[in-house]
Amino acid sequence: MGMAGYRLTNDAGSADVAIVTTCAFLNSAVAESERIIRQLLAIKRRRPGMKLVVAGCLVQRFRTHIRQRLAGVDLFVGLDAFIDIPKLLKNGETFTASFPPSRILTSRNPRLLSTPKHYAYLKIADGCNNHCTYCLIPGIRGSLRSRPVPDIIREAEDLARAGVKEIILIAQDTTAYGLDIYCRPALSRLLRKLSNINGIHWLRLMYTHPAHITDELIDEFSSNPKLCRYIDLPIQHISNRILRRMNRHYRRDDVEHLLARLRSIPDMRIRTTLITGFPAETRKEFNELLEFIKTSRFDRLGAYAYSAEPGTIASQMRNQIPEPVKQERLKELMQVQARISRRNLQHLRGRKLTVLMDAADTGRTEWDAPEIDGVVNLPETAKTGTYITALVTNTRTYDIVGRPVRARN
Ligand code: SF4
Repeated sequence: MGMAGYRLTNDAGSADVAIVTTCAFLNSAVAESERIIRQLLAIKRRRPGMKLVVAGCLVQRFRTHIRQRLAGVDLFVGLDAFIDIPKLLKNGETFTASFPPSRILTSRNPRLLSTPKHYAYLKIADGCNNHCTYCLIPGIRGSLRSRPVPDIIREAEDLARAGVKEIILIAQDTTAYGLDIYCRPALSRLLRKLSNINGIHWLRLMYTHPAHITDELIDEFSSNPKLCRYIDLPIQHISNRILRRMNRHYRRDDVEHLLARLRSIPDMRIRTTLITGFPAETRKEFNELLEFIKTSRFDRLGAYAYSAEPGTIASQMRNQIPEPVKQERLKELMQVQARISRRNLQHLRGRKLTVLMDAADTGRTEWDAPEIDGVVNLPETAKTGTYITALVTNTRTYDIVGRPVRARN
């Protein structure tokens, strides 16, 4: 693929230019990004002609001192300027980042899929206005900036033409989509328009905010056959005191009410994310969370030990919880969830499900997002990227075992 005279390779040992796209919203992500950059700096010392470019959130987060932090990198590029990298290199620039970022990639920018060709992530907005006290993202990626509907549709049509069947909508808060440019929530309208695209069979919604789920969106789950009966709804905690300290803008009874409404949709599955060991979380509050998990029986659940990110309000709060306690609570919570997940999946035995094949012997139902949720393992092979109907013959803690009944398309 040609691009301003460059050809893409994934072999850093022979590349003229190596680009590291970084994540930096958690200390662990910073450490991982810097580990890879240092590996490339070692290659660059052996091949001094190679240019090393560091792009993305790490540059936004450490913009004032990143050049000292990572000496030897040729060019640092913030979130706005990916597309300008060839020009910046040609001009001998060493740093460019605007804060807050003002641009967002559009369908006019070339896109190379890094996912299997039958599914793709589609970014509908960037930035966030929510200001959760533990989160650096608004400080790194700026305020909400939604892409106009026609621009998203154009990109989705291109993806469909390239063979994509499942589109996964992402943003920092997908349910805030449109508030900035249309002055009202516009996600349901966008979903309806996306579902008119031929070739797209599944639309999957990630990263919603419990305070921003509208009646219209709940109706969309009931009425739009292309919208997966799956919602990623990170609640983070359930204690009112902790939710207030997190600045999450909802209370326990709001969550309970919302879950009841979502569960009234036939075959709906709910994924959530939780944080253990938020500053000043008492054992009693953690027990409240555990009990809530036991009664709510989420279908999918991810949890993280709280990470104090310098620059956040939460990192300045008193009564930070010791790391071993955070980890112990995380382990306890995931043990409870493992039992719930195992029992939830057992109810599927004997059912026939539609499965999208991600590999010859592995697929997913509409209730599973790629890479984070479970899979369907098949003893026989089927064509990657096709939908099949599978009979559930066995279930494990997070995964299903199935037998193909017939291919759908
Ligand atoms: S909604 Fe998500 S991205 Fe926005 S501030 Fe909260 S945790 Fe960060």
